[in-house]
Amino acid sequence: MTDPIIAAENLTKHYMLTSAGFSSRTGVVHALEKVSLAIMPGEVFGLVGESGCGKSTLGRVLLRLEEPTSGKSIFEGEDLAGFGPERLKKFRRQAQIIYQDPYSALNPRKRVGKTIEEALEIHKIGTPAERAQRVTELLSTVGLRPEHAKRYPHEFSGGQRQRIVIARALALNPRLILADEPVSALDVSIQAQVINLLEKLKADFGLTYLFISHDLSVVEHMADRVGVMYLGRMVELADKKDFYAEALHPYSQALLSAAPVPDPTKERSRIILTGDVPSPINPPPGCAFHPRCPRAMDICREKRPELKEIQKGRRVSCHLHSNS
Ligand code: SF4
Repeated sequence: MTDPIIAAENLTKHYMLTSAGFSSRTGVVHALEKVSLAIMPGEVFGLVGESGCGKSTLGRVLLRLEEPTSGKSIFEGEDLAGFGPERLKKFRRQAQIIYQDPYSALNPRKRVGKTIEEALEIHKIGTPAERAQRVTELLSTVGLRPEHAKRYPHEFSGGQRQRIVIARALALNPRLILADEPVSALDVSIQAQVINLLEKLKADFGLTYLFISHDLSVVEHMADRVGVMYLGRMVELADKKDFYAEALHPYSQALLSAAPVPDPTKERSRIILTGDVPSPINPPPGCAFHPRCPRAMDICREKRPELKEIQKGRRVSCHLHSNS
């Protein structure tokens, strides 16, 4: 059986709050609580949830851009915590990131050719002539022209800038890409082009994506499996087909009911969630979703449901499914 390319084991991230000017602790933000998942090589794992649910924190902690409070990130069977500087540098080549806002991801004072080449320089790859050739190839790979290397980021549209960011991410021949809301900042008309490009690159280079998005339609198109996060915890994990046919967690059902349906002959009855997303500083006891859950029961206010496997490859954290 193939090993996961990357896995999270009980990853937890807490941020301490301190009062301004004082070192005393005033609270703890529970950004991530015991999240476990395994992403297989060549897979697109879609991570969804409302803004602030911990999706991006999970991505950053999983790739060790931030230290976890506890838990492990395992890359190809090795615990990232044990990586020394050289091994970590190699890992940084193998795992690249595409952020939401391509403009702030690019240095406005640098020509894009230089921006792409820089990654190669840092890792001491190739001679200057070989690097220039590689930049030309990468621009072509993402649908840009060689002369674009001489231009500055402001001379490009949002979609083109995201293509540049993707070219830079590809420069080091990564195996894993964390795509954090990669099309959310783009016009709808451009989103499809960038999604098609990401799909093509995955096929051409055998990439694995951790694809973070609040847009369930985009995730339905891209992902093989889906994970749903709520208030720092994973509440549902399923194959894409099963998830979109019948989401099991009431929060997943509410998210799906709000997503646009591409087929105008089909309708979804919208589940309107009441109440605000609780604060991660003081998460509710029991199931963190209970103050907003239309199906909450007494037990939900007292006991936190475990994330349980209820079918092969399908996990849900909800008392409605705890006896399945
Ligand atoms: Fe709703 Fe209870 Fe399930 Fe939480 S455990 S999602 S409150 S039914």
